[in-house]
Amino acid sequence: MQLRKVGEFKLIDIIAKQAGPPPSSVIKGIGDDAAVIKTGLKDFLIVTTDLLQEGRHFNCRYTTPYLLGKKCLAVNLSDIAAMGAKPLYYTVSIAAPPNTPCSYITALYRGMHRQARQFSTYLLGGDTSSSRTGISLSITLIGNAPKEHIVYRHGARKGDLIYVTGFLGDAALGLTMLNTFPDISGRHPLIKKHLDPMPRIAEGTTISRAHIANSMIDISDGLVADLHHILKQSGVGAQISLAALPLSGSYRKNCSRLSKDFWAPALGGGEDYELLFTVPPASRTACEKLAAKLKVPVTCIGRITGKPHELVILDKEGKKFSVKREGFTHF
Ligand code: ADP
Ligand code: MG
Repeated sequence: MQLRKVGEFKLIDIIAKQAGPPPSSVIKGIGDDAAVIKTGLKDFLIVTTDLLQEGRHFNCRYTTPYLLGKKCLAVNLSDIAAMGAKPLYYTVSIAAPPNTPCSYITALYRGMHRQARQFSTYLLGGDTSSSRTGISLSITLIGNAPKEHIVYRHGARKGDLIYVTGFLGDAALGLTMLNTFPDISGRHPLIKKHLDPMPRIAEGTTISRAHIANSMIDISDGLVADLHHILKQSGVGAQISLAALPLSGSYRKNCSRLSKDFWAPALGGGEDYELLFTVPPASRTACEKLAAKLKVPVTCIGRITGKPHELVILDKEGKKFSVKREGFTHF
């Protein structure tokens, strides 16, 4: 059967089954934002990897090599943030066509080093190859966290409140804006969010150290798709409310000319790299006190329910709202 029929997530399930049960040092293998490994040291190791492929994840006409380098590290940092961990080291594998200017690659690494310095992460090594099909970039990022701070996708409980950091849908609107008006300035806030996302490391570690979250994930494929991962792995359902979704001023101002459906970018648009986490009601006050100290808004968008895998979205009148598109998947 072809991959387009199997789909990305079924394929990952098949790969996980083929791998068989992990050794006892693997606390979490395939299935979360990053793997968690017991090493004998006080802290556990956290390992994640992400691939950016030209034509699929980026368009060299829209971005600069510097921003591409920053983003490639940012998407990996976001997965470390989603575990409540701190980044430490990374490796980079790169494949590029032979006619790529060397200055393109050095600018790309300048962007990566800039991001690495900001998040105290160090380049360990990598691999280099030529390519016939555009640039491919893959980073493996290693982080660490004390065992008791790590937050998984599988911990959500009935009654938990669902929070998200930042604003939703801006990155998807930024991409549509670039596709619609290719000459527009990269400084537009929606485009900036698409090309230069800010990993929520400070927010993730603050949340994890405070022990207020039962589960956490980063929103890379869209709110609905990523919330579904939490529901599936925790065996719960959720109810969220459209009126509660945090939308930026730029979203409200520009959405009608970029998207037929006002809610689609916020519900299904990918690449916001915000954090979604669930908090038991007893920790609500602690969470909101902590949120007030963070640099980004933190918004409660709904609640975890006891109905496995069922996501109910309520519109402004409290009626059920159905979603046509559930976020990004490959194939
Ligand atoms: P994220 O969106 O957080 O990067 P993914 O959806 O890419 O997460 O991956 C989900 C899980 O599946 C992760 O644990 C990841 O390591 C694992 N995974 C994805 N692709 C593969 C693969 N080709 N082989 C093995 N594991 C994979
Ligand atoms: Mg993730």
